[in-house]
Amino acid sequence: MEQYDVIVVGGGIAGSVAARFSAKQGYKTLLFEKYKTPRNKPCSGIQFTYFEKLIGKKIPKDKLCENELFKVDMVTPQGKTMKGKMKMFNFWRSTFDSWLNEIAQEDGAIFHDNTSLVNFEKNSETITITVEKEGK
Ligand SMILES: Cc1cc2nc3c(=O)[nH]c(=O)nc-3n(C[C@H](O)[C@H](O)[C@H](O)COP(=O)(O)OP(=O)(O)OC[C@H]3O[C@@H](n4cnc5c(N)ncnc54)[C@H](O)[C@@H]3O)c2cc1C
Repeated sequence: MEQYDVIVVGGGIAGSVAARFSAKQGYKTLLFEKYKTPRNKPCSGIQFTYFEKLIGKKIPKDKLCENELFKVDMVTPQGKTMKGKMKMFNFWRSTFDSWLNEIAQEDGAIFHDNTSLVNFEKNSETITITVEKEGK
């Protein structure tokens, strides 16, 4: 049975970044994703530029869409519109999430795609998880 300090379920943005920071701290980290990657997701892929601060890495140009966004119209729930020039990131989740999976691995996390969490059991000092390979 394999043992890890930290196991992260789901190789989306949150999971990949969490796994990367965990591995960077020296924890033996496993990250796994249910679906085969690269994986498309229903997402517009638009983010504020402070996102780089949150993920702790400059996003390479080739991981972003060619068409850049420089202007936004934001409508508040009260119906107020705020317009202005503002650079925003725009990416395909397939490309972007896979890049995050890659950099998590570069920083030491072990990554498996096509692998799904099916059960976990909490013992006194450990958690035992059961995973299943998808599409077997
Ligand atoms: C139509 C639409 C448009 C959107 N547009 C934007 C936008 O423009 N900008 C923005 O910031 N946000 C947008 N969002 C929201 C954005 O998609 C989510 O906030 C974001 O994906 C959350 O990231 P996450 O890593 O938490 O979750 P996810 O990206 O959902 O990642 C979770 C991962 O866990 C995996 N998983 C699930 N169960 C298991 C399991 N049992 N075992 C292993 N893996 C598992 C899933 O396959 C998935 O890859 C949009 C959402 C939708 C639906």
